Amino acid sequence: MTLKMMTNCKRCSQRIQEDEAAYICVEELTYCQSCAFALEHACSACGGELVRRPRHAITAANKVANRSGWSAYGMLPF
Ligand SMILES: [Zn+2]
Ligand SMILES: [Zn+2]
Repeated sequence: MTLKMMTNCKRCSQRIQEDEAAYICVEELTYCQSCAFALEHACSACGGELVRRPRHAITAANKVANRSGWSAYGMLPF
């Protein structure tokens, strides 16, 4: 069983690749970049603000950790 992260834009149903920019609202509806711009970053369903979905949260966290000289695991209190 493979769990693939497949996201489709709520507006145009276009497949959003994992490394592509995607925008989500508070209800976690996903939009592609062109639709987010077309909607002026407002969700067509709830009217909420669309924010950029982080692409690789773990990688980004590690990058910050490396830059400041400690590992991400060093953040754990045990
Ligand atoms: Zn779209
Ligand atoms: Zn919404």
